[in-house]
Amino acid sequence: MPGSLERGPTAVSESERDTPGTIELDAVVVGAGFAGLYMLHKLREQGRRARVFEAGSGVGGTWFWNRYPGARCDVESMDYSYSFSEELQQEWRWTERFPSQPELLRYLNHVADRFGLRPDIQLNTRVTTAAFDETTLRWEVRTDNGDRVSAQHLILAVGCLSAAATQVPDFPGLGTFGGRWYHTCDWPVDGVDFTGQRVAVIGTGSSGVQVIPVIAREAARLTVFQRTPNFSIPARNRPLDDEYQREFKTRYNERREMLRNLNFFLGNPRLALSTPPDERQAEYEARWQAGGPAFLGTFGDLLVDQEANDTAADFVRDQIREIVRDPEVAERLIPRGYPLGAKRPCIDTDYFDTYNRNNVTLVDVNRTPIEEITPTGIRTSAGDHELDSIVFATGFDAMTGAILAIDIRGRDGARLRDKWRAGPRAYLGAAAAGFPNMFIITGPGSPSVISNMVVSIEQHVEWIGDHLEYMRARGLQTSEAEVAAARRFLLRIEGLLRAGRWLESP
Ligand SMILES: Cc1cc2nc3c(=O)[nH]c(=O)nc-3n(C[C@H](O)[C@H](O)[C@H](O)COP(=O)(O)OP(=O)(O)OC[C@H]3O[C@@H](n4cnc5c(N)ncnc54)[C@H](O)[C@@H]3O)c2cc1C
Repeated sequence: MPGSLERGPTAVSESERDTPGTIELDAVVVGAGFAGLYMLHKLREQGRRARVFEAGSGVGGTWFWNRYPGARCDVESMDYSYSFSEELQQEWRWTERFPSQPELLRYLNHVADRFGLRPDIQLNTRVTTAAFDETTLRWEVRTDNGDRVSAQHLILAVGCLSAAATQVPDFPGLGTFGGRWYHTCDWPVDGVDFTGQRVAVIGTGSSGVQVIPVIAREAARLTVFQRTPNFSIPARNRPLDDEYQREFKTRYNERREMLRNLNFFLGNPRLALSTPPDERQAEYEARWQAGGPAFLGTFGDLLVDQEANDTAADFVRDQIREIVRDPEVAERLIPRGYPLGAKRPCIDTDYFDTYNRNNVTLVDVNRTPIEEITPTGIRTSAGDHELDSIVFATGFDAMTGAILAIDIRGRDGARLRDKWRAGPRAYLGAAAAGFPNMFIITGPGSPSVISNMVVSIEQHVEWIGDHLEYMRARGLQTSEAEVAAARRFLLRIEGLLRAGRWLESP
């Protein structure tokens, strides 16, 4: 669907305020990342009055906040981009196979400008409460800037791995540390110069795996504190040439259909267990050399059969042994006890190689736990590490953190936080029973972080858009998930996850 540049912005003026001090809208969208931007565009196309509230000082969500060195997407750029506008697809030119954070941020800012979205986006504003009023059948939304908004629909585009839910572990003594500390997801806009410093990185998940090689090249000494070793596949990133892009752009829509309809990883008819070992090894080798997440799709049974999975996991373990020269360090880096793919595998550039540098030390916190942070560094059970800077690559309160950070109250004043105490329940990952007209984009239970998230975001935005049109066509004031439907959905998802052993990841 082409962009709607011809439609003017729908900013709400003072004269449109129905109740003094309260702005009346059709929809409030929380968050201005990939999800919030497309949702706003969709609502405006439908002629609805909407406003986006964004806590950050710019649009972009994940790609606004995560400015740490090495931050990069692990889905290929040509696939990790919107497909809703053919013009946008054709005109935007990606420069690398896997886009870097600055390039993604430029792209999302371009989208905000191209579709004239900014007048309806209020930055530097955090939504703090949202309560459903059963007399007016509207959501009453409040922000930390004192905004009071009444809207028929509340759409949460707050992100699964969001700055709003950053996790800094509560180490004793952090407040006494005399150096500087940073979290990868709230990185200083002007960057950090680690030249000559003694630096610690805590955490070896996706962000740690990306930031560690870059800091190692800059710092005098880097000490990595690892709890859970991760599977990681080389990215083999490279510049994208014009010819490749031109050709790709002729089959963009076909490609997106494939990503939407075909299971990218399970769709391969070839099975690891029915392939002779030498051919299987050659296939793994070829995918390893090609790089990127397609390694998980080498065979169609890798994510559903433990024995098949072991063949791929063992291949990766052998690669680590081959790359890392110190056999003891290699053994500490090798992931064990959970299947390859049960956690989204990392995609790296020089990660394992980095441990061959003589300025890099790996500390396994399972053997020597961190006891405290001292004024001069980190104390483990084995001794002190003197440091100038600490980088927390410790991730997020994932999936529900940013949602539950808002005080959301539905029918009978029930709090979402209480309803989800035993775990989230959302029909299609998008709607919670008892919370009418509230929608969550890529909420808990949807494929979200185990998918190409832009594809999942577009699906949810389009589903929500269609749903709102359905309601309008029938004159429906409210719509909400049934308890039984949410429960059935949850059971179905749990069954699928168990089959794929995804529930076992640490
Ligand atoms: C380092 C990193 C790398 C990633 N790499 C990939 C990848 O390779 N492939 C992939 O598919 N996905 C990746 N992801 C997941 C990524 O989050 C999604 O792909 C996508 O960017 C999510 O977009 P979103 O709009 O749903 O959420 P976000 O981009 O997280 O945006 C949510 C926004 O909501 C705002 N917000 C939250 N709560 C409030 C509130 N109460 N009030 C106001 N504003 C609020 C936040 O400030 C944030 O800006 C990565 C995530 C991280 C952190």
